[in-house]
Amino acid sequence: MRSDPTVEELRPGLWAIPVPIPDHPLRYTVSYLFEAADQAVIVDPGWCSDDGWSALQWGLRQTGRSAGDIAGIVVTHAHPDHHGLAERLRRASGAWIAMHALEAPLSDSRGDWDPDLRRTNDVAVLRENGVPDPIVTEIVHDEEFFASFEPTPIPDRRLEDGDRLPLRGRDVRVVWTPGHAPGHICLYDADADVFLSGDHVLPRISPQIFDQPHNKSSALSDYLASLDRVAAYDSAEVLPAHEYRFRGLAARTVELTRHHEARLAEIETLLRARPGATAWFVTTEISWSRGWDAIEGQTRRIALGETVAHLNYLIENGRIRSSRPDPDGPRYYELADGGRC
Ligand SMILES: [Zn+2]
Repeated sequence: MRSDPTVEELRPGLWAIPVPIPDHPLRYTVSYLFEAADQAVIVDPGWCSDDGWSALQWGLRQTGRSAGDIAGIVVTHAHPDHHGLAERLRRASGAWIAMHALEAPLSDSRGDWDPDLRRTNDVAVLRENGVPDPIVTEIVHDEEFFASFEPTPIPDRRLEDGDRLPLRGRDVRVVWTPGHAPGHICLYDADADVFLSGDHVLPRISPQIFDQPHNKSSALSDYLASLDRVAAYDSAEVLPAHEYRFRGLAARTVELTRHHEARLAEIETLLRARPGATAWFVTTEISWSRGWDAIEGQTRRIALGETVAHLNYLIENGRIRSSRPDPDGPRYYELADGGRC
């Protein structure tokens, strides 16, 4: 069991500041602070909570700074455990917020959505995936769920692949790694030879991969391509947003790729035996590290999203096909060759 991380100076002018995520198994997000000349830029300030804000401020004090000294906030992707405190920190410091364009919200629009419509859409998606009605009731996203997240802030700057962070005297580059999120970015500091991997590559767990309605290609295709891409930074020490820092990036990308390939193969084997299965059926039958029976509540929904991403990948690659005979009923999956040997 690893102890809780503490604030550390990892390289001259590069700090790790753990920010807690209350009541969450990941426990904390690691924020990284880059110092250059007379300015400082923070990456992923963490989940929005009063405890998190206190931890961030305390961490900044250990570096000899305060919130007011922050010139910029980089968000690796628009998930609440990464951008959560960005807006509060922007208000306290006047710092800019930067993220990839694909993570930027189109408008400052929480509250514009009709909650009933959102619930109706959510139920329709779960039913299409073949989720039985009692479980739909259990896992549908309600207003409380949506209200528990800080809305994604509107960025002041947009980052693209290859961009250099505006840090005088430091060469920190953006590496676009779509997959876990369409606009997920990593950062490579060539001089320090460190690779900030966000959630793209974590040392122990596999980041969740799920398709969003507006994705152009399957999230899993993007993710696997992004894994290949970052293997080139193998010399670097990897600084992930969760868990702990490590070396051996290329080997870790191979492990993650194999994990997904095994799941794809397992789904094909299942569909050969059970042609016409729904996404929900597939989800309940394939192997999960903790076993399906131990997966409850919203975690079931995460598992379903992960399965659907794998099904969509197999469709995109011509390995399976789907049909929906009743436009209001479930979608069924089978092998593209109909299961013939
Ligand atoms: Zn995360």
